[in-house]
Amino acid sequence: MDGLLHFGPIVLLYFLGLGLMEVLWHRYKKRAYNWTESAVSIADMIIRNLVLLAIGGPLLAQIGPWLEKYKIADMPLRVGDSWQWGRVALLFLSLEFLYYWFHRWSHEIRWFWATHAVHHSPNSMNFMTAERLGWTQNISGAMLVFAPLFLAGFHTTDILGMFSLNLLYQYWLHTEMFGRLGPLEHLFNTPSHHRVHHASNPHYLDANYGGVLIIFDKLFGTFISEKHGEPIKYGLVKPLNSRNPIYVALHEWMNILEDIKAHWREPEILVKYLFDRPGWSHDGSRKTSSQISTPT
Ligand SMILES: [Zn+2]
Ligand SMILES: [Zn+2]
Repeated sequence: MDGLLHFGPIVLLYFLGLGLMEVLWHRYKKRAYNWTESAVSIADMIIRNLVLLAIGGPLLAQIGPWLEKYKIADMPLRVGDSWQWGRVALLFLSLEFLYYWFHRWSHEIRWFWATHAVHHSPNSMNFMTAERLGWTQNISGAMLVFAPLFLAGFHTTDILGMFSLNLLYQYWLHTEMFGRLGPLEHLFNTPSHHRVHHASNPHYLDANYGGVLIIFDKLFGTFISEKHGEPIKYGLVKPLNSRNPIYVALHEWMNILEDIKAHWREPEILVKYLFDRPGWSHDGSRKTSSQISTPT
């Protein structure tokens, strides 16, 4: 998977080509392209990569080899190895399965949601949304969901390569430019499925967590299909209108800090504010997504 670096120019073309096509599509359709939200997303991407270089990389350099010490097998992906393609498929499917739970728990556990809320903060949908992922993913502990891949014996570079390919795939899902894609919708995560995931319409909440595939959503009961002609309201349930990249990246952490300040003397309540569903409150003054989608 080290060879992925050689594909840099193709990846750049994929990012820029689709991005440019989307801007032209907006002009053709006489729709406003949200440059401000795109600029916030690009600022988020730049700072996220700086945090990754400064903290995430060194942290992985410590944790990766430590986890590998406890591996139960050795599964390198080498050219010429007859097990190669079987192992590539196994890594792809295992990572996709763990990604489903990583993403689902990023919505269901407030500590992980604090980072992931950033990805859901744009109030419109374009490819740049894919680049707005927040800065704190690598330090919140959320990535430990992928630890079983290290323990199974896959090598760090192979896991990172497959994870990068998974995220690369997800870039093209963030658009209104593509409609439904026929039979592909059954197996793969598509722009249509991912629009539902980014919708804050009550009946679309908590759906479609897959990365490349949509099969685990179907298996675990979180799949919702896009309804034809129904306008999608993008963004958080309580919309975030800030254009300040620092506030956008840290807003939910600041909310958590407020709850810590108010409840640090009550450990049972504090634990729930940290790790229960986003929107949980001790006095019922807020609503979780499931309370919003199924009002009583
Ligand atoms: Zn999400
Ligand atoms: Zn997304």
